[in-house]
Amino acid sequence: MSLKVLSVASEAAPLVKTGGLADVAGALPAALAAQGVEVTTLLPGYPAVLAKLGKTRAVHKWDALLGTPARLLAGKLGEHPLLVLDAPALFGREGGPYGDASGRDWDDNWRRFAACARAAADIGGGAVKGRSFDLVHAHDWQAGMVPAYLRLAPLAGGKAVPSVITIHNMAFQGYFPGEVFRELGLPPSAWTVDGVESYGGVGFLKAGMQLADAITTVSPTYAGEIRSVEFGMGLEGLILARSNRVHGILNGIDTAEWNPATDPHLAARYTAGKLAGRAKNKRAVEQEFGLTRDDGPLFVVVSRLTWQKGMDVLAEVLDHLVGIGARLALLGSGDAEIEQRFHAAAARHPGRVGVRIGYDEALSHALQGGGDAILIPSRFEPCGLTQLYGLAYGCVPVVSRTGGLADTVIDANPAALAAGVATGVQINAVNPAALAGGISRAVALYHQPGAWKRLQTNGMKADFSWDASGAAYAALYRQLIEEQG
Ligand code: ADP
Repeated sequence: MSLKVLSVASEAAPLVKTGGLADVAGALPAALAAQGVEVTTLLPGYPAVLAKLGKTRAVHKWDALLGTPARLLAGKLGEHPLLVLDAPALFGREGGPYGDASGRDWDDNWRRFAACARAAADIGGGAVKGRSFDLVHAHDWQAGMVPAYLRLAPLAGGKAVPSVITIHNMAFQGYFPGEVFRELGLPPSAWTVDGVESYGGVGFLKAGMQLADAITTVSPTYAGEIRSVEFGMGLEGLILARSNRVHGILNGIDTAEWNPATDPHLAARYTAGKLAGRAKNKRAVEQEFGLTRDDGPLFVVVSRLTWQKGMDVLAEVLDHLVGIGARLALLGSGDAEIEQRFHAAAARHPGRVGVRIGYDEALSHALQGGGDAILIPSRFEPCGLTQLYGLAYGCVPVVSRTGGLADTVIDANPAALAAGVATGVQINAVNPAALAGGISRAVALYHQPGAWKRLQTNGMKADFSWDASGAAYAALYRQLIEEQG
C-alpha cells in the first residue's frame, strides 16, 4: 500500500540549513519513496525558501492562523512535493530561521512555530482539498506542537491521523513561559502534565513527546542515553514512561550529495580502490587554510563551535596536536569565546593551525575530501553526520564514544585491527587527556600506511545510505496506521 506522509520541519536541505536536521529532512522524501511512501515536506516561508521556490501557487489560506493571515504555497523539494507556509508577519524577516543575524533568538518563536504546527495539523487532518495524509511526522521542538494540535484540538470534521516525533537533539526543547498557553488555541484541558505543560511552562518538544503515537531519535545509543538525567535534560522521566514507544533509527546520508567519486567541490575525485586523488585535495586544503605543505597528518573539523561538540576541549589540546607533527584545518562557527581560542591557537601556530569562522558547504566537502582525519569530540551526539561523511570520504573519524558516534565508528582497538574491521578512533571521555590520547593514537596509525589505508577503505565501503533507516521508518508508519485502524 502506498502511504502519504506529511513531514514537518523548520529546515530542509538544500533550501534552508543550519545543521543535521536539514540534511535529514531533506533526505527523507527520497529515502521513503524507495519504500512506497510519498513524503510531502512542510517548511516555514523564510525569505530564503520563498526566493528559491520559483514558480508556485497558493493551495490554501488562513485568515487568522494564531492571529496572523497565512497562505500555503505548493512547490518542490528536489523531485518531491513541498508545502511552504507563507506568513510574512512570522517568517518574512532577514536573519536565520530562529533569530536575527547576530544570533539572538526571535522573541516570538513560540508563535512562529506554533502557527506552523497548527497549519500542519490542519493539513494533516485534510484541510487542503485534494491532499490527504495518512500520518504526520514532526521534527524537533519546532514541530513539537503538531501532535498536540492533532490530539487535543483536531480540525473540526477532520481525519484523525497518527503522528511521530523525531528528536534530533534533546538539548533544544522549545520551552516557553506559561503565559503563552492561552494564545495557542488549545482547550484549557491541555494545560496539564499529560498535555503541553512542562515544569510550569509550555514545552514544545515535551508536548510532542507526550502526545505523538511514537517517538524516534536518531541513533539506538542516544535512544538509551536519553533515559538518564545527564542526557534526558529534564525529559528522561517522560522517555522512561513511554519507553515502549521510543525507537532509535540511525540517520543515513545522501549518497548523491556526498560521494567522493562525483563530488564537484573536490579538486580531485577518487574511490576506495583509487585513493590517490586525496593527495591533491590535501594540497588544496593546505593552500586554502594557509598551512605548510607536508605529508604529516592533517586533522580537520567541520562543526558548530559549542560545548556540545567538545570544541572547548579541542582548543586545549592544539599545542599537543601540533607538538606531535600534526596540523589542523577548522571550519565552524558558534560561541565567540571558543572562536577566539581557535584564533589564538592559529596565531600561536602559523602554518600548523588554520581557522575559518563561518558556514561554507563547499569547503565542508573539500575538508572531508582532503583531510586525513576528522575530529568530533562531542559531549553528546544524537547521531552526527560529519563522521558519516568522514567515513564515506576516507577521512578517518576520531570521535567520542557517545550517541550515534558510538553506533557508527568501529574503534581501532587491537581486536578490531586484527579482524580488519576498524574504521576510526574512539575516545572514552571528553577531556583534554582523553582527546590528546585519541589524537596520538590516530597519528600513530597514520604512520602505519597499511593499517591507515585499511581504516579508510573500511569506512568507504560501509553502507550508510538511507536504505535500512528508510525501511525502519516505513515499517513504523505502517504499524501506527494499522493500530489506528
Ligand atoms: P548538528 O546538527 O548537531 O550541528 P550534525 O553532525 O548532525 O551536527 O550535522 C552538522 C551538519 O552541518 C553537517 O552536514 C555538517 O557538514 C554541517 N556543518 C556544520 N558546520 C558547518 C560549517 N561551518 N560549514 C559548513 N557545513 C557545516
